[in-house]
Amino acid sequence: MHSISLLINGKAVAAANGATFTRQNPLDGSVATTAPAATVADAIAAADAAGQAFTAWAAMGPGERRGLLLKAAQALEAKAQAFTEAMAQETGASAIWAGFNVHLAAGMLQEAAALTTQIAGEVIPSNVPGSLAMAVRQPAGVVLGIAPWNAPVILAVRAISTALACGNTVILKGSELCPRTHSLIIEALQEAGFPAGVVNYITNAPADAGAVVEAMVAHPAVRRVNFTGSTKVGKIIAQTCAKYLKPVVLELGGKAPLVILDDADIDAAVDAAAFGSFMNSGQICMSTERIIVDEKIADEFVQKLTAKVRNLPLGDPRQGPVVLGSVVDMNTVQRCNDLIDDALAKGAKLLCGGKAENTLVPATLLDHVTPEMRIYRDESFGPVKGIVRVSGVQAAIDCANDNEYGLAAAVFGRDSGRAFEVAKRIESGICHVNGPTVHDEAQMPFGGVKGSGYGRFGGKAGIDAFTELRWITLQTTPRHYPF
Ligand code: NAD
Repeated sequence: MHSISLLINGKAVAAANGATFTRQNPLDGSVATTAPAATVADAIAAADAAGQAFTAWAAMGPGERRGLLLKAAQALEAKAQAFTEAMAQETGASAIWAGFNVHLAAGMLQEAAALTTQIAGEVIPSNVPGSLAMAVRQPAGVVLGIAPWNAPVILAVRAISTALACGNTVILKGSELCPRTHSLIIEALQEAGFPAGVVNYITNAPADAGAVVEAMVAHPAVRRVNFTGSTKVGKIIAQTCAKYLKPVVLELGGKAPLVILDDADIDAAVDAAAFGSFMNSGQICMSTERIIVDEKIADEFVQKLTAKVRNLPLGDPRQGPVVLGSVVDMNTVQRCNDLIDDALAKGAKLLCGGKAENTLVPATLLDHVTPEMRIYRDESFGPVKGIVRVSGVQAAIDCANDNEYGLAAAVFGRDSGRAFEVAKRIESGICHVNGPTVHDEAQMPFGGVKGSGYGRFGGKAGIDAFTELRWITLQTTPRHYPF
């Protein structure tokens, strides 16, 4: 069992009232972590500290900020083993998923380091003689980042790295389900030498999330919010941010379609479907959630996919390498079991896997899924996936768009021109032709449409999100006035 602290103004501290909460291992219920249950006063103290550190941090040259971010990337990678252990204990994640998390998160810090000299403005021709008019990007202030447990290293680093590169100070609100994993990121940033107050860390008991988050959103120093999590909580955060007029980036749920056209390379599509569906047991916002396959090739595709998926290793990640570890909690097991029951009762065919009694949920495929079944629409966020058979390109596009979400998508087809046209017509923030739905790179504009939220992380899009674009003029000659 590990105990962790808050980080406020460079100091590792307990909650002001000494309260704590625990996170248990999802498989055996053993206590994985004891973490501070921050109060509203702690949240305000973190925002105060970040606000006080802002002026000096914003004034620091890009080279110095870049150096710290690069050191943080190294410190993060040096903790790869600790992250793997913490993720297995707190969320049941496999070592391959933990390793990928650390690698991509380190890349995000490196990318953020590179961005420090790319925060460019422009000079805009003015109609006023002698007016040098500029669009200038300045740091916004304190950025509050709220990160979930499922890709814990990637999503928490994403919540703060570009914001720091742009000269903002930050507060990370960790997930109740992986407070230690998130605190390892904070340790890495501390080791890199970020000045006191530039990075702050808050953890809270689940029941306090609403009050703690609202206290920080309301704080005058906090000027930007970003949230990655469910659409349900995203809507609450959007309302809280609207109340205080704070701009927010919302990265929410998904139901990614993988469209397999009649001319697809079937073996390539099978590999992408297996990886996209079952990496991290399907608990990724970009997970393939709907496999939409043209009926002309459906039988061959389904037979090959089933043969591959039924052999994917499942087990306790603390005992050795697996592809599917434990899912995060029994709620996920219940949700997946219910989706299976509902689909089978309405005529779906179980190809492999099936219902689970504990958090070791097998890779499960259901064929002949129809719109009447809940799995057609609802995010499973687990290793239970539906296959929908369609006839022709238009039906495939209609099916892909027949959903409230719109984060990631993918299309397979050998006629890449046709597949590209399909990609353009899919309502999603992200779409890959002949690649899996699960694909993330630090420099890419990442985000969704419809119920998957708004705003973009990544590269230059992240600079837009975490800077204030100002119009500043310099009058170089005497100005003419009408009176
Ligand atoms: P969640 O929405 O249940 O929880 C996320 C955070 O919300 C937690 O930190 C929690 O403290 C906070 N929270 C809960 N209630 C709150 C309230 N009333 N007010 C303020 N904050 C509150 O999400 P989760 O279950 O941890 O994550 C899974 C979801 O996240 C899935 O739907 C998944 O698709 C989505 N997700 C999206 C992306 C993306 O980039 N779009 C990435 C990963 C996960």
